[in-house]
Amino acid sequence: MITIKSQDQLESMRKAGKILSDALKLMEEKIKVGMSTYDIDKIGHDYIVSQGAVPSFLNYDGFPGSVCVSIDDEVVHGIPRKTRIIEDGMLVKLDCGAGLNGVHTDAARTVCVGNVSKEKRKLVEVTKQSFFEGVKVIKAGCRLGTLGHVIQSYAESFGFGVVRDLCGHGIGTDVHEDPNIPNYGKEGRGMRLIENMCIAVEPMINLGTYKVMQLDDGWTIVTEDGLASAHYENTMIVLEDGVEIITL
Ligand code: MG
Ligand code: MG
Repeated sequence: MITIKSQDQLESMRKAGKILSDALKLMEEKIKVGMSTYDIDKIGHDYIVSQGAVPSFLNYDGFPGSVCVSIDDEVVHGIPRKTRIIEDGMLVKLDCGAGLNGVHTDAARTVCVGNVSKEKRKLVEVTKQSFFEGVKVIKAGCRLGTLGHVIQSYAESFGFGVVRDLCGHGIGTDVHEDPNIPNYGKEGRGMRLIENMCIAVEPMINLGTYKVMQLDDGWTIVTEDGLASAHYENTMIVLEDGVEIITL
């Protein structure tokens, strides 16, 4: 079911979004070679809690962390672990959520640690830009197929693979609400966005094939060909004539 948020809920989401954005900036700033993915999760978790917000991902469907930390060929849902150490040249994806007064926000960044190859840097840049290309068309009345088409055609024009098995989503009292927001699609198809709908748009773009699979840990999604993947996500409010991004 698609829900339209009240002004009070939107206000709480804006506050949670600011906390989440600051938590991501803090993690990006602190991340360095030799840290474990558990250390990064702790920085994000502690900041969110210190601001009086709730880490939305902790125990979500049983997820054992506050931040999904996914490295290189891991696309999303990497479990923070004390034994997983950050090395020079890695792409580290931080995907995190923060909630306040019963509503949630969700955002992700990809961090280049140390000497990252030129092609991986390009992937990160194109992934982020594909999000902003999508943002250009978002407003009340925009069809989801058009949004997906814009993201897909931008990313594919660089020869990259657009993940299909996972997508963006509505967000509010639950982290994942209807509708699904694919990063691919056909122009002019699909449902129309509605004013004051809250959505998380999150391109997941791969260097090689778009195909992904899940590891035996029941969480981590990896690329089928083992090549790197990048992720960029923000939560936003759909406006009559545009969009307000609340996790930048
Ligand atoms: Mg996310
Ligand atoms: Mg999301």
